[in-house]
Amino acid sequence: MGRRKIFAGNWKMYKTYSEAVELVNGLKSGLKKTDGREYVLFPPSPYLKEISSLCSASPFVTGAQNMYYENQGAFTGEISPLMVKDCGASFILIGHSERRHVFHETDEDVNKKVKAALVHGIQPMLCVGELLEEREKGETVSVLKKQIHGAFSGIEKADAAKISIAYEPVWAIGTGKVATPEIAEDAHISIRKIMGELYGEEIGSGVPILYGGSVKPDNIAGLYKMNNIDGFLVGGASLEIKAFLEIINV
Ligand code: PEP
Repeated sequence: MGRRKIFAGNWKMYKTYSEAVELVNGLKSGLKKTDGREYVLFPPSPYLKEISSLCSASPFVTGAQNMYYENQGAFTGEISPLMVKDCGASFILIGHSERRHVFHETDEDVNKKVKAALVHGIQPMLCVGELLEEREKGETVSVLKKQIHGAFSGIEKADAAKISIAYEPVWAIGTGKVATPEIAEDAHISIRKIMGELYGEEIGSGVPILYGGSVKPDNIAGLYKMNNIDGFLVGGASLEIKAFLEIINV
């Protein structure tokens, strides 16, 4: 059986509500759905419920960009897995580099969030990726290993199979510097190897791995040809109807 193909848009902290609705309507009318592909939108959480309703009966599903790992409590400003679920989301982005580097999330936080998502039946999309200086020092694989080992700590094989991974080199996110297809492919192969060591060959070869980092209509084709790239997590270009349609209709 082939691996899942997942195309996702991370809207970050962009769009007013009316702009968000316009974007979803444009995507719904322009999508030429390809069999077996999944399409996930990660809107800002205040719009999650409405965007989920707008996506129902369409090929698009939604996810939250972040959540806390407790069900409820005195955690001002946070949202819980129960709330994410209640808003109709089926995915959760965990460990995005902006969460790790701007908000100082640790591998331990990431692990708690992954576990909380699994308890509530929300599919984690785990983001991993190295900084430019780590790549230059030849540390890419050890960084990926540390992030993956941290995120999957204490997670059983059956649950590991529910998780997708987005390889997002930090130097490529929002910078316009996309990884070459070969660089991305190499990192994806390393991720499969790390997952294989943890959970065996079936999980290593079967885990869906998305590439993210300055994906645009003019670089998607080369990346999508690579054997180990199963989809994309797109930031900037997912905010424009025309650009995102060109990417998801590839
Ligand atoms: C992202 O936010 O996950 C991302 C990959 O952003 P961009 O496509 O803008 O580099």
